[in-house]
Amino acid sequence: MSPSLSQKYLSTRGAEYGVGFEAAVLQGLAKDGGLFVPEEIPTLPSSWKEDWKDLSFEDLAFQIASLYISSSEIPSDDLKDIVKRSYATFRHPERTPLVDLESSRDPFILELFHGPTFAFKDVALQFLGNLFEYFLVRKNKGIEDPKKRHHLTIVGATSGDTGSAAIYGVRGKKDVSCFILFPNGRVSPIQQLQMTTVLDSNIHNLTVDGYFDDCQNIVKELFADPELNSTHNIAAVNSINWARILAQQTYYFYAYFSLIKSPKYNKASSPRIVVPSGNFGDILAGFFANRMTGSELASKLVIATNENDILDRFFRSGGHYTKKAIGAETDTVKETHSPAMDILVSSNFERLLWYLAFESDSASSVEERRKHACESVATWLSQLKSQGGFQVPAAVLDGAKAEFESERVSNDETIATIRDAYVTCFPKNVGAGSAKSSKTGGYILDPHTAVGVAASRRSIQRNPGVSHISLSTAHPAKFASAVDLALRGQDGYSFEEILPQEFVGLETRETRSIPVPTGAGWKGVRDIVVKEVEKELQH
Ligand SMILES: *Cc1c(COP(=O)(O)O)cnc(C)c1O
Repeated sequence: MSPSLSQKYLSTRGAEYGVGFEAAVLQGLAKDGGLFVPEEIPTLPSSWKEDWKDLSFEDLAFQIASLYISSSEIPSDDLKDIVKRSYATFRHPERTPLVDLESSRDPFILELFHGPTFAFKDVALQFLGNLFEYFLVRKNKGIEDPKKRHHLTIVGATSGDTGSAAIYGVRGKKDVSCFILFPNGRVSPIQQLQMTTVLDSNIHNLTVDGYFDDCQNIVKELFADPELNSTHNIAAVNSINWARILAQQTYYFYAYFSLIKSPKYNKASSPRIVVPSGNFGDILAGFFANRMTGSELASKLVIATNENDILDRFFRSGGHYTKKAIGAETDTVKETHSPAMDILVSSNFERLLWYLAFESDSASSVEERRKHACESVATWLSQLKSQGGFQVPAAVLDGAKAEFESERVSNDETIATIRDAYVTCFPKNVGAGSAKSSKTGGYILDPHTAVGVAASRRSIQRNPGVSHISLSTAHPAKFASAVDLALRGQDGYSFEEILPQEFVGLETRETRSIPVPTGAGWKGVRDIVVKEVEKELQH
């Protein structure tokens, strides 16, 4: 069967159309710097609820992936197998269980942290790692000479969660090398150990003296370097990769079906789904999922930001998307208690803007509306670069407001919310590995999840009775310092009690990392990458 429109991809800035799924995933970023989006968002048959409500997480994931990947690119049986292996690594039988906090002013919590690295990013990166492997095995069929085999070199920067999830996604995989740069000592101790204790020969942790931004800049230079690109196939694992957005759609459906089976679900309205957001990748998956159902999954998607609030300011300022807040001196990232959301700009917002521009355009032909949308997005993003921001037309802002709302949560409120939930939330049916301590204490939120819960509480006050789902993006044990700050001295609290078995004794294990010499710059990193890949290929 030839691919449908939702199985072909275009660049949000217009240089590429009709790109297949495999090409979009391996390429990551489009040639013009734009992001790949499906040419059309699929719509589900009206029987979707009946057909899907009792499916397992894996079966749902397969159904959704089939809408965006043509069987001419990945035959159904192969796709089923990829999906099955991607979630077999999760510790919880439901993969992403929905937890009832048993408190009327609180949302249901969707626990997304039961994958190998205890963060929601595993849902996407386990799948992406298996996709990379699948494509490479296929390309290399019958090729024995290591010099002739197609080889992928993943390069990424991390402030914590992306790095470990990416490493666990591709460790030990043939024909893939993975280089992760992070600021030495500036990711949480557990996150650093999660990365450096992985000793597979294809994993390379590069520690940089500096900040996350320094790492990010080096990675950008490497992606733009014609020399490295001519000798190595460089691949991206950050959320610009479309496969990540695709994989994350599954848990929005899974959460919805879990909720409607609860006796507490209020049938009068579709739920509101609240998402702690940074790069806008997680909640964007919610946008696609919700669109496919004609907004039945969610009456609103609520963006919860920390003090790095570009998305919240966009909604409150009438559609100004600016790096610098009004009145602020500089445009620098603030260090908060929820570091995985510490961003200056949200890369995936570009994808939403493309659809909103497309839908609000008045041209009569689809081709023209597409062209106009690409032109608008390209102009906005170039203004962001040259002037630090842009303003969207009213119709685009209205489109965004029809589906989204936003809340900004301060550092103090984040800590207060962790403390308050611990004292007031006692869910009954939590499974093993959940975030409730086993003895007398209550439910423990990680700081990112706490941003979502604080935003949820405001939304619940404004919309009493409407069922809310708040996404929990990490296990609290990953962010010990914020959790300790909130709970030290609380009755029954002991950090050891929530520490997963996997983290016990991590600090005594053998580690491996390569320090990037101070002042080596991106060219120094390029030399390390080239040398390490060569070493790997000799074995
Ligand atoms: C990455 C991350 C987020 C933010 O997700 P985006 O897709 O960047 O919006 C939130 N919480 C945690 C724990 C994360 O790792």
